[in-house]
Amino acid sequence: MGRVAPERVRAAETVPVTLRGRAASPAPRRVRPGPAAGPMPLGGPLVDSFGRVHSDLRISVTDRCNLRCVYCMPEEGMTFLPGAELLGFEEIVRFARVARGLGVTSVRITGGEPLVRRGVVDLVGELASVGFEDLALTTNGTSLGRFAEDLAAAGLRRVNVSCDSLRPDRYSEIRRRGELVRVLESMDAAVSAGLVPVKVNVVLVAGVNDDEILDFAELARATGRIVRFIEYMPLDADGSWRRELVVTADEVLGRIAGRWPLEAVTGGPDDRAPASRFRFSDGHGEIGVVASVSRPFCGTCNRLRLTAEGSIRNCLFSDDELSVRHLLRTEGREEEIEIALRRAVWGKRAGHGMDEPDFLRPARSMSMIGG
Ligand code: SAM
Ligand code: SF4
Repeated sequence: MGRVAPERVRAAETVPVTLRGRAASPAPRRVRPGPAAGPMPLGGPLVDSFGRVHSDLRISVTDRCNLRCVYCMPEEGMTFLPGAELLGFEEIVRFARVARGLGVTSVRITGGEPLVRRGVVDLVGELASVGFEDLALTTNGTSLGRFAEDLAAAGLRRVNVSCDSLRPDRYSEIRRRGELVRVLESMDAAVSAGLVPVKVNVVLVAGVNDDEILDFAELARATGRIVRFIEYMPLDADGSWRRELVVTADEVLGRIAGRWPLEAVTGGPDDRAPASRFRFSDGHGEIGVVASVSRPFCGTCNRLRLTAEGSIRNCLFSDDELSVRHLLRTEGREEEIEIALRRAVWGKRAGHGMDEPDFLRPARSMSMIGG
């Protein structure tokens, strides 16, 4: 979609787009304007007031999940969105088309667990036809074995599979449900289906699974899967996060490099991705670290999110959300959706502010936002 006529902008500004958090949440914090804050551009790519161009969209298709990982959901008592509040596939695709027109080139489908949403293969097919350069999905892997071939045939390019332990008992303790063997099989199924490279997401929690860092490094070396060590973030629904539980990227890299020398990988198309990449110097495989807590990468962040109920969220750690569901539920409002997208991105803050004294945990936890 090209430039929008000024009269349409004025009309759109009267549209009741709401900045909101959850009912029980603290009042949304004010969006601080950036240094270059001037008039929001009405043409060109999706840019924020700090000049960061946004091209990566995470789409959450559900807040539900068949697991209850300790760092994400509570064991009991999670409340989920009623079905009527979830965006339909047609609405998601409408949003994706507008985003594509504004320069979004890569899409990741996530949740909750995206594979528990019925018909997700059809959604992948629809999104593939929009023509993104990259179309990926993050899953807990419990049912990927069943879907891998169909997802690949529908146009999915690759998957990230979450797996935090290679020990069956510990896996089940961390994820509270599910079996390791199924997840390992699903990674094989993904490779057979051509959903490569398979990335393995490992959230490390100090004293829980950080004694497996070298085991995961060996998995990367032996299989060619790219293991990504993710720092535990204050996005768990239980509110158990503490800084002492974070295993930092430096610690991970130090331990692995002490056994197998590593070299930084730079200059690829993934340079703005959250993970810093490293290859083993002997040529056997690659790992990544996602250092959101110890080394925030906000300065190069190019990501935005669409939540399962149709709100644009410009940062995992900000409660500022812009609901576009009402726009997506009616045909012919693409220009208003475009303006909403531009406004949401323009209002993004410089950084997540986790180290600032006034930092508040986001009201919504990871599975509600879409990780
Ligand atoms: N259910 C899918 C899965 O587990 O892969 C997709 C959604 S999940 C919210 C996306 C990613 O967020 C997973 O890799 C998960 O391990 C990660 N995650 C969840 N809670 C987290 C937290 N508090 N800190 C860091 N990563 C977290
Ligand atoms: Fe479910 Fe993924 Fe959250 Fe685990 S991390 S509870 S699999 S949404």
